[in-house]
Amino acid sequence: MYTPLSWLKSLLRLCGFYLIVVLLGLYFDALAVALALGSTWLLGLYSWHLYRFNRWVWHNKTMTPPKVSGVWEHIYEAVYYIQRRNRRKRKELTRLVKRFKEGSEALPDATVVVDPDGCIVWCNRLARIELGLKWPQDNGRRIDNLIRHPKFIEYLQDGNYDFPVEVPSPSNIRKIFEYRIMPYGENHLLLIARDVTRLTQLEQMRKDFVANVSHELRTPLTVLSGYLETLPDAENVPPAFLNKVFSEMRTQSERMQNLVEELLILSRIEASSERVFDKQVDVPQMMLAIEAEANTLNKTKQHHIRFNIDSELTVYGIDTELRSAFSNLIFNAIHYTPAKGEIIVEWQLQDDQAHFSVTDNGDGIDEKHLKRITERFYRVDKARSRKTGGSGLGLSIVKHVLSHHNSKLEISSDVGQGSAFSFSFSSELTIHKSLLKMEKKVK
Ligand code: ADP
Repeated sequence: MYTPLSWLKSLLRLCGFYLIVVLLGLYFDALAVALALGSTWLLGLYSWHLYRFNRWVWHNKTMTPPKVSGVWEHIYEAVYYIQRRNRRKRKELTRLVKRFKEGSEALPDATVVVDPDGCIVWCNRLARIELGLKWPQDNGRRIDNLIRHPKFIEYLQDGNYDFPVEVPSPSNIRKIFEYRIMPYGENHLLLIARDVTRLTQLEQMRKDFVANVSHELRTPLTVLSGYLETLPDAENVPPAFLNKVFSEMRTQSERMQNLVEELLILSRIEASSERVFDKQVDVPQMMLAIEAEANTLNKTKQHHIRFNIDSELTVYGIDTELRSAFSNLIFNAIHYTPAKGEIIVEWQLQDDQAHFSVTDNGDGIDEKHLKRITERFYRVDKARSRKTGGSGLGLSIVKHVLSHHNSKLEISSDVGQGSAFSFSFSSELTIHKSLLKMEKKVK
């Protein structure tokens, strides 16, 4: 318990001491000697206390003050009190800093604190990973020496931080980061960098998609409107030419219809919440229907098409989607194989999995196109693909359908030799008599 120091008590105690010294001096008739001895003793005592105090302040590990009385007790208590208060404040501050650091580490964004001179004061783990900052080596280094993109430097120096800026990451140029700076603390800046690569890609895809659709629709529309302009003079136009005009108009409107239908199929697949496990698809029956359609399509090219279908093999899946995937691959083989080619369609059980493949001996596809061939509107030979009425969406539809059925399209192709498109359905989706028998045996 703290008791305030009374200056009167201290003075009385000092006076009491010197009174005793004076009395002793008078008694022994040596007042001067007594006063000198008393003062020396007092000085020695104070020096001893000072020495102890100094040791306690600088060298003692425990904070508890030694047992003393008088003025020194007050001094020890005062220092003890100040030390305890400082220690409490330090703890509070450490806790606060720890909480700030934990909070910033939990942020899904790279965070950097920069001082008024643009030097790094602190950065979180994500900043080290994503922006390539090194800690503690980069502590105190200028941020614009580490993120050197001109757009970022201009943003940092401009001082107007109302809007963020998008800049590639200094450690990986394929990643795009959105940098946002905000004033923080005493003239400090808080830099937050968010990975917006996916968003930028989506935005680019959206732009490409609109541009592609408009481009695909523009060509047939131009042809149609061109022919329509000639129609008012139909009386002066020879009937043979008129027939050609109508036939071309029909082809172009069919092309637009196909494109719109395929776009609708794609968006339906993307938005589909149907579960692939719910319904069984009779693939052999479906193959019969596709074979009939393929034969009609094959009338001009006269390919030799062979269907090797296991009539017992069915799968769980979504009927319309699978039909679209199978027919796209088969019709592509017909379209992109020169007349009188060889096409083999297989639907067989392989390692407990339903396996589908279409092999042709057509022109094949150069390896450089294979990586991008399932992208929307991607075509190897635009002119040729348009001639076949292709929209460039077929393989993209196949890819989406297969992804919905947890499968993946495999393509192998050699230029001048032909192509093989194949995929398998996992054993969980595959239904076959032989598998049922095996399951019974296991039971
Ligand atoms: P399209 O509607 O133009 O046929 P797809 O997405 O179905 O679009 O195919 C993309 C491109 O892949 C086609 O333009 C074509 O160049 C190529 N392609 C597809 N299947 C074959 C194949 N069996 N043989 C050779 N090239 C093919």
